[in-house]
Amino acid sequence: VKEFQYIAPENLADALSLTAHYGSTAALLAGGTDLVVQMKHGARAPSCIINLKRLSDLNHISYSKTEGLHIGPLVTHNTLVDHPIIIEKFVLLAEAARSVGTFQVRERGTIGGNICNGSPAADIVPSLICLGAKLKLQSITEGDKSVPIEDFFKGPQETRRLPEEIMTEIQIPTMPNNTSGVYLKLGVRKALEIAIVGVAAVITLDDTKTTCLGARIGLASVAPTPIRCRKAETVLLGQKVEADTIKEAARIAQEETTPISDLRSTAEYRRGMVFVLTARALNEALHRAKGLATTK
Ligand SMILES: Cc1cc2nc3c(=O)[nH]c(=O)nc-3n(C[C@H](O)[C@H](O)[C@H](O)COP(=O)(O)OP(=O)(O)OC[C@H]3O[C@@H](n4cnc5c(N)ncnc54)[C@H](O)[C@@H]3O)c2cc1C
Repeated sequence: VKEFQYIAPENLADALSLTAHYGSTAALLAGGTDLVVQMKHGARAPSCIINLKRLSDLNHISYSKTEGLHIGPLVTHNTLVDHPIIIEKFVLLAEAARSVGTFQVRERGTIGGNICNGSPAADIVPSLICLGAKLKLQSITEGDKSVPIEDFFKGPQETRRLPEEIMTEIQIPTMPNNTSGVYLKLGVRKALEIAIVGVAAVITLDDTKTTCLGARIGLASVAPTPIRCRKAETVLLGQKVEADTIKEAARIAQEETTPISDLRSTAEYRRGMVFVLTARALNEALHRAKGLATTK
């Protein structure tokens, strides 16, 4: 690892001055489970590391019906897994966090790091896409920005975050009535595995719990960035969601992917599994939105 300067600011104002000063020569450090590995492999060689861990303002979770769910980027995966509000109201986020790596990785790794690393396989992102999350980015030069998560990614390991910007909050609106979702992940092994395919789905039903008023599908590991399957979602809108509608939505979701073959899987297998897992996720989201027992 190339020698670097190390700075651990005590507050956000100092951190923002540092990112404004060092720009792209610096790297922000949260849990380090992506950054340190990349530095060891020589993929990144920042001349300065700015550790965010002392910024306690970035390590919060708050929820109210009017404001929705606000999560600081330093919140770890294990915190999301165990958080009562997230389990009760945003269960697909807890499921996504539980699917990340091992207990040790989840103990260090953060939601902000998972998003800002820009991996197409990031497990947290499909659930956040389905939940309509917005990312708060702050910098001295650009001020505050709010970016829908589905617009945040440019390509593998590339995001729209400017070097001087720090992500300071993830904001998720309150879920409408009769809404629920799920995150399903296919990996080679049960633990410690980057997703071959990751699928999140959310469904909102009308008050009779028969007609679909809203649907979101988010996928990981099947395109250069995490994606939202807007065409597949429209198949479900206004419909009585039944087996055929779900199959058709899953088929359209397949068409929206551009998977590659790599060490973990062939593109064909990925595409096939998008169909299987999307159908399974929509079925499960539907069950949950109806308030029925889980099928998992
Ligand atoms: C053994 C192992 C298994 C893993 N398994 C999985 C898995 O199953 N699923 C999965 O999705 N990931 C997995 N990962 C990847 C990693 O653990 C996660 O992506 C994790 O959430 C990264 O968080 P971090 O806090 O460690 O990020 P860091 O490594 O600290 O940072 C990652 C990137 O985000 C930037 N960053 C961090 N916080 C901010 C912020 N607030 N504002 C702006 N930029 C910021 C950093 O500068 C860096 O570029 C695994 C990693 C390891 C080592």
